[in-house]
Amino acid sequence: MPDKKFATALNCMDGRTQEPVIELIKRDANVTFVDMITFPGMDGFIASAPDQDLTQILKMINISIEKHGSGHLYVVGHYDCAGNPVSEEEHKKHISQSVQRLKQLYPHLTVKGIWVDETWNAHLL
Ligand SMILES: [Zn+2]
Repeated sequence: MPDKKFATALNCMDGRTQEPVIELIKRDANVTFVDMITFPGMDGFIASAPDQDLTQILKMINISIEKHGSGHLYVVGHYDCAGNPVSEEEHKKHISQSVQRLKQLYPHLTVKGIWVDETWNAHLL
């Protein structure tokens, strides 16, 4: 198993967010690859989904951890999100709630939030 070469992103499906998120995570986590798990409005989904609805997402996260040795999770929210059409403030609340939820599920991993702004720059929260 590769050692610390992968990180895992919980991102929106929106194509505008993919490259900036990958670039930021590669720099921040010092990894070569970013496993990308996507869902429309991922931040809102993880923040509020009932446990049973989160099962498929958790299966994908577990593959990234167990097969790729990922030690880092990132939850992404972004400007102009069709899947979670709320204000920037609400997005940041959802990202924070998602980070807290994932920290409880994966206490041995680092879990961080990312905001992608209206110029498609990604920022750590
Ligand atoms: Zn979106």
